[in-house]
Amino acid sequence: MTALLATRVMRADTASVAEAARILTAGGLVAFPTETVYGLGADASNGRAVARLYEAKGRPAFNPLIAHVLDLQAARALARFDADAERLAAAFWPGPLTLVLPRSGQCPVAELATAGLDTIAVRVPNHKVAREILGAFGKPVVAPSANISGHVSPTNAAHVLADLGGRIDLIVDGGPTPVGIESTIVACVGKPVLLRPGGLPRAAIEQTLKHVLADAPAPTAGAADAPVAPGMLAAHYAPRTRLRLDVRRIEPGEALLAFGPELPEHAKAAKLALNLSARGDLIEAAANLFSHLRALDATSAAAIAVMPVPGDGLGEAINDRLRRAAGGDR
Ligand code: AMP
Ligand code: MG
Repeated sequence: MTALLATRVMRADTASVAEAARILTAGGLVAFPTETVYGLGADASNGRAVARLYEAKGRPAFNPLIAHVLDLQAARALARFDADAERLAAAFWPGPLTLVLPRSGQCPVAELATAGLDTIAVRVPNHKVAREILGAFGKPVVAPSANISGHVSPTNAAHVLADLGGRIDLIVDGGPTPVGIESTIVACVGKPVLLRPGGLPRAAIEQTLKHVLADAPAPTAGAADAPVAPGMLAAHYAPRTRLRLDVRRIEPGEALLAFGPELPEHAKAAKLALNLSARGDLIEAAANLFSHLRALDATSAAAIAVMPVPGDGLGEAINDRLRRAAGGDR
């Protein structure tokens, strides 16, 4: 579990912005205000930092995160914009609108942050402090709401401290957040779809698009701040190769997804063996999960044999994703 950290709270000013950028660069966790709610920021391109973020929030599963950038130009490095996406970005960025778009080929965001998906959620926030931190850090920042998973989103620094005190490095206090509810999420992967209502009203979006926004299909149960249908575009990453879980012995033709120092029987015969964490560290394992699965999927092995992974801490989310990838729950 997360070691107890001394969470510092600093008033938003030049010094705290510089400190936030330093902590992000070092792979740490910083909560800061955006115009919607307080976000918990981590270096989006650092898989271990992203894994720490999931752990600090106590997320039971790896929901894909929103990558925050300073402007449209920076967003173009992460994602592909179709004509509708261009129109929405031009009209509403910076602002409380998140676009879910196809991930670009050179996108530097860690696979864990997008939960292994081929799409990525991107936003350009419109808050002085968030923008100063993004500017000082100079790279994309994933920033889900700065609360324990399942709790309500924080709109001031005291809310963040109550939930995440001892779990994160720094809270930059910039006062209460002006919008107070999460961003509106629109997917532009084909016909635009409203995935989550939020701080930007639907009517404004429809006026810009000059047509009606499709709703995400049938709501699935989930957290109050989850998109209406996380199952639709946030479909779980699924390798083509069959997964065999809780493996203690490798069969001929299989690839191995290992965990920990002790390998299963016949491990040497595996087509390819990748270890989530040779020292049995669940944070390292989470950071490697999706990229290792993709690499093993590319070997055209008969199956991917997966060693047991303990269920504590991030192990719960790792096992959840492994079960889904194995076809247990798509
Ligand atoms: P939060 O940052 O806490 O406001 O939550 C971010 C929301 O964005 C989550 O509910 C995600 O399911 C959603 N999201 C992020 N990436 C994607 C994606 N690629 N496709 C669909 N939904 C996404
Ligand atoms: Mg949230």
